[in-house]
This record gives sequence, structure tokens and C-alpha cells, in this order.
Amino acid sequence: AIVEVTRGGLVVRRCAGPDATTFACDDVLPLDADAWVGRAITQRTALPHVALDDAGERGLYARDDARAAGFGDLRAIPLFAQGECVGCLVVAVPKGEKLRAGVVDGLLVAADLAGVAIGGARLFETVERQATTDGLTGLVNRRTLDVKLAEAVQRAARMQMPLCTILVDVDHFKSVNDTYGHASGDDVLRGIASALATTARTSDVVARYGGEELCIVLEGTDAAGATRLAERMRLAVKALRFETDKGPLSVTASFGVGTWKPGDDGRAVLERSDGGLYKAKQSGRDRVVVGT
Ligand code: GH3
Ligand code: MG
Ligand code: MG
Repeated sequence: AIVEVTRGGLVVRRCAGPDATTFACDDVLPLDADAWVGRAITQRTALPHVALDDAGERGLYARDDARAAGFGDLRAIPLFAQGECVGCLVVAVPKGEKLRAGVVDGLLVAADLAGVAIGGARLFETVERQATTDGLTGLVNRRTLDVKLAEAVQRAARMQMPLCTILVDVDHFKSVNDTYGHASGDDVLRGIASALATTARTSDVVARYGGEELCIVLEGTDAAGATRLAERMRLAVKALRFETDKGPLSVTASFGVGTWKPGDDGRAVLERSDGGLYKAKQSGRDRVVVGT
């Protein structure tokens, strides 16, 4: 079995062999330093050093885990990536059998490779996350928004479904920065991003469009639905309270709704949203306007 150490605990990633089901486990397991796997991970050394006469004296994933009782020999070999213990390779044979020395040497090499592979996969996940999300707000970034919007436009055309975008711009944000400082401005942006994300459905794309402008892509939603959602978002933003060095702070934002029409590309929908946003700003801010 290949077991990975994650933030939540141990996860059994792969099991192979005639008794693979013995190793399988769907749950996230707590790291138990009194069990073979947890002990190899915390001690950072391959266990056991001597062949087992009775592997059952210690559990496999947990101290009282009975499944190790049937093994004649068991090795728990920690996996390392960039010096960090990221998992464990565990190999066992039935009672009465022993792992040969040559096999154990091979397992140590396999464990080295598995550690490198897990390290590579984790690095890829990190880079992918950094490339697609905005660091300040955790929202989807502009590049990903462009891709997702283009995909949504294609689906809307193919399935003849409504599609709307909402552009959001914080009102008088310059003076928030000037009066309360840039760090408070960042707090406000994070708070607004989180309020919009919780108000939207999980299938909606909520993105940082740039600066203090955010964008929501709503598939299967017409102008009336998008306007209702934008109104809920407007009230959610207005209800936020931020604590700053200079006392409590609240802000408002303006919303522009754009409706997709057949023949439009993503940019055309956003331009309609932008038209609505411009009118919302012109007519006094803190409001929702549908662009035409
Ligand atoms: P309006 O109501 O017309 O939108 O006024 P405004 O002051 O919000 O408009 P403007 O576009 O002039 O100002 C946007 C400000 O947003 C300027 C910029 O310094 C600030 N800003 C953009 N990105 C960030 C950020 O990541 N953090 C902080 N703190 N401020 C930002
Ligand atoms: Mg702006
Ligand atoms: Mg603004």
C-alpha cells in the first residue's frame, strides 16, 4: 500500500497484491505513532529493522488495528519529498513467509521513486493553484475567468441557455485606502470577495477581474435572476463591518449586469455589464443596473 500524509491525516492511496483489501481504507486516518505506519512516519526510518515473528503485536494504521495480525513479515518505509516525510510504503507477506533481503532493497529504491513522484505531484498542484487563483482574495483570477467565460458562452450558444455576467466595483475605494490604509483596503477586498462567493451558487464563477473589480459568471441565469442575485450581493457587501485602527468601516459597491445574446463573445457580455456598472456609478453608486 502507498499511504500519503495529508494535513487531515493518513490517506491510503493505492493497494495492490492478493491481500490488497487488507490494506484498503476509505477514511482519512489519524496518524497513530503506536502503529507500524505512523511509527515509520514519525521516526522517519524504515520499520521494522528485524523481521517480524508476530506482526500482530502492533497494528497497521492504528495501535489496535487487528489487520496486521495475519502478517509474517511487514515493512513500513517512509517516503520523502524535499526532506519532508510525505507518506509510507507498506509491504507485508502472510504468516510463515519472510521478505527476502533483495526484495527489501528493491522496496527502498521504489520508496525513493514514490517520494519523488509525490513531491512532483504536490509541486504541480501548488503551481496550478497559483496560476489560476488570485493570491489576495482566493478567487479565480482574470486569466481563468477569460477561459471559463469563453466556455460558458459556447455552452450557452449550443444549448440555447441564458448567460449573464455581473461586474462589481467598490465605491470610493481610493478614499478607503487613503483614509484607512492599504492593509485595511486589502481586508475590505477579501471580505467582499468572500461575501460574493457565499452569496453565489458553487457552480457560479466568482473572479477578481482586476484591482477592486470583481466579476461573476452566471450560467443558466437570465437578466431577472442575475439582477436579484446582484441585489442580494449589494446588500451583503453593505452589511459587512471591518475593524480598522481608525475605527469601524463599511463600504458599498456598484453592480452592472450583462446579458449574453446570440452571436456575443465573452467580451461583448462583459461590455454590457460594464455599461450597466458605468450607469450605476453615474446615478449615485450602491446600486444594480442592467446594461443594454
Ligand atoms: P468609484 O466609486 O468611482 O469606483 O471610486 P474608486 O475610488 O473606487 O475608483 P478608482 O478606480 O479611482 O480607485 C480604485 C482604487 O482601488 C485605486 C487602487 O489603489 C485601489 N486598489 C486596486 N487594487 C487594490 C488592492 O489590491 N488593494 C488595495 N488596498 N487597493 C487596491
Ligand atoms: Mg475601479
Ligand atoms: Mg471603485
